[in-house]
Amino acid sequence: MNSYDIVVIGGGAVGLSLSYLAAKKGYRVALVESGHLCSGATGRSAGIVTLQLSLEEDVAMAAKTIELFREVGKGFGTEFYRTTGFLTLVPERMLEETIEPLRSNNVGYMVLRADEVKRYVPFLKAHDHEVGVLTSNDMVVDASEMGRAFRYALNEMGVSVIEWNGRGAIHVEGGEVRGVMANGQSLIKGDAYVFAAGPWNKTLLGGLGITGVPLTVYKCQVVRLCAERTLDYVPFYVMGEHLYMRPDGNGTSIAGNGYARVVERPEDAMDGLEKEYVQHIAELLAERVLDPSGFRVCGGWSGPCSITPDGYPVIGRIPGLRGAYIVDGLDGYGLMRAAGVAELALKAVEGEELPKYSAERFKGREEQEELVVELHSV
Ligand SMILES: Cc1cc2nc3c(=O)[nH]c(=O)nc-3n(C[C@H](O)[C@H](O)[C@H](O)COP(=O)(O)OP(=O)(O)OC[C@H]3O[C@@H](n4cnc5c(N)ncnc54)[C@H](O)[C@@H]3O)c2cc1C
Repeated sequence: MNSYDIVVIGGGAVGLSLSYLAAKKGYRVALVESGHLCSGATGRSAGIVTLQLSLEEDVAMAAKTIELFREVGKGFGTEFYRTTGFLTLVPERMLEETIEPLRSNNVGYMVLRADEVKRYVPFLKAHDHEVGVLTSNDMVVDASEMGRAFRYALNEMGVSVIEWNGRGAIHVEGGEVRGVMANGQSLIKGDAYVFAAGPWNKTLLGGLGITGVPLTVYKCQVVRLCAERTLDYVPFYVMGEHLYMRPDGNGTSIAGNGYARVVERPEDAMDGLEKEYVQHIAELLAERVLDPSGFRVCGGWSGPCSITPDGYPVIGRIPGLRGAYIVDGLDGYGLMRAAGVAELALKAVEGEELPKYSAERFKGREEQEELVVELHSV
């Protein structure tokens, strides 16, 4: 079969979630991935899926992701995640605004005094003016296992999953996508094409002559830390320093913060850790960890993230390309919102207008592109 209701371009967290949700609703779906599933930003992420986000709608999206990942993991026999819970350390004066998005989404939480935080993260230094907010359903995802789990689930659901397809396979004619060449052999056609190529959307669309979706690609990094002994703690985020950390098995941890360096192409973001970044994380940890000498940096990696001028995702029709839709601009936390944005993308394909996320909102505002990224810098 070469004709589908929906052709999804990109097999990261978003494309996989979208393919799954669409197939579950009975659509005939093909998923085309240039490499292997989760070989893009998803595979380079820190794997954190938390409900503790500052926007109400983001919490709702993360809740959907947790639900969908559980469904795929349990339903198809590969649990590619661990339910870990999550702890945010905030100054007490910011407690209300931290818990409000949780409350309005009916997410249960516990507030911990500074001296209670060590029960969950024994090595974390919490100051007297700080409190911990603890949630329990948050998870940590193993992205390579995730690719395997979704491949199996999608195959079972009848989705055509085409991997190793290269990047230049999209055929456009007369302002319309005419098909995607699969393995250089057959043209796959869809009633709708969803560009879920993450940070690659920008170059992909640029190559097709489409410039109406302003996106900035930037470099994200994570540091791997090794400790002498096995560490068991709840993944956490320290609001003041934007520092997050989570255990990764065998005495290792992953840590990072909101650093952003704008790059031209996603590949430019895959050149590994920067010395200054490692130094910065080490300094933050020295402030926050009771025994910093118990940790040493033993690796890490980098990858591309992408963002829109106003920081909200772009979901919906691609101006100037009939029958085509985009999901992008997920910043440094797109894994955790994947199912939420995928659900909206499906609604857009079904004809629903999403003015808040539409690419049309950027008409004439392209010059603000760099501004938001600055705000996320170290
Ligand atoms: C270092 C780092 C740490 C991060 N940590 C977290 C975290 O802990 N939690 C979190 O929620 N988010 C995190 N993120 C952000 C998160 O990884 C992304 O927001 C999310 O993975 C985006 O998913 P996606 O499916 O949109 O993109 P991707 O995962 O990049 O998927 C797009 C796919 O499209 C493919 N593709 C590209 N071009 C084509 C083409 N022409 N045809 C077909 N396929 C194509 C790519 O190979 C890729 O697999 C992190 C990112 C980085 C880099």
